[in-house]
Amino acid sequence: MRAAPFAYLRPNSLEEVFAALAQFGDEAQLLAGGQSLMPAMALRMARPGVLVDISRLGELRGIALEADALVFGAGTTYSQALRSPLVAEHAPLLALAIPHIAHEAVRSRGTLGGSLANADPASEMPACMLALGAQVVLRSAEGERAVPMEEFALGTYTTAIEPGEILAAIRVPLPETARRTRFREIARRSGDYAMAGAALVSDEAGEARFVLFAVSDRPILVSGAPNLDAVLAGIDTEVEFFPDNHAGIATKRHLAGVLARDLLSRSALKEAA
Ligand SMILES: Cc1cc2nc3c(=O)[nH]c(=O)nc-3n(C[C@H](O)[C@H](O)[C@H](O)COP(=O)(O)OP(=O)(O)OC[C@H]3O[C@@H](n4cnc5c(N)ncnc54)[C@H](O)[C@@H]3O)c2cc1C
Repeated sequence: MRAAPFAYLRPNSLEEVFAALAQFGDEAQLLAGGQSLMPAMALRMARPGVLVDISRLGELRGIALEADALVFGAGTTYSQALRSPLVAEHAPLLALAIPHIAHEAVRSRGTLGGSLANADPASEMPACMLALGAQVVLRSAEGERAVPMEEFALGTYTTAIEPGEILAAIRVPLPETARRTRFREIARRSGDYAMAGAALVSDEAGEARFVLFAVSDRPILVSGAPNLDAVLAGIDTEVEFFPDNHAGIATKRHLAGVLARDLLSRSALKEAA
């Protein structure tokens, strides 16, 4: 199938993006790497009247180390993040997770901002950003607001982004003590979307964040980490499991337990990088 007809705009600045969003309202849709939107348009599951291409905006590019955070421009591609020495040093969880996303052709175009805005519950990046305690920076013509990842994903393909807003950046806080991270996903084949996955971030002060993804309608921060029994209890009481094309509820519930044991057993915690 071919995409329905659409108009195409390529603004040169964020101001021009905001003007286009104001002018075309619901008709307009942002295009970043196009790795989710273009297939959806080809299947006519998305039919934007006006595509607003933000893929070449310099204002959305780059990975910067600030005093309290590692800051990703929304237009950072997976491949750029994977190659970044700053990511290797300050957010190695992302480098563990990115190789699980599709294959190089997708990773060289798909963006971190596009992944978060798309809010596919089976996506790796929203789960990792939640585990890292990141904030999403949303900008509009009126200004800027920061939304914690806990409040950003509202459901399958649904986020806290309001009309007229654009996801501009992602801020990953720098830890006060050394951070250890682990990541695991279970997929039928390498590069497939996960049937279930988990990310763990723990620190020397004994704090830990354990996040499950591809099991519900959004990534879930399960309480109790790093205590395995507490997390297993949290999986029973806090996670509303959703089926998808890859697995039903019973399988996802089982895999969530497998992932928790895998990442939170005593030996696994020692191994975390
Ligand atoms: C074969 C294949 C396999 C894949 N496998 C995986 C996988 O295993 N795991 C995974 O996570 N993903 C996978 N993907 C999806 C891929 O990761 C997409 O790149 C990603 O989901 C969206 O990023 P994008 O930059 O391509 O966004 P686009 O496709 O350009 O946009 C996606 C959505 O986000 C919106 N958007 C984009 N940028 C912004 C912004 N800055 N502000 C507000 N809204 C914005 C768009 O309007 C659109 O609604 C796969 C894709 C393909 C084609």
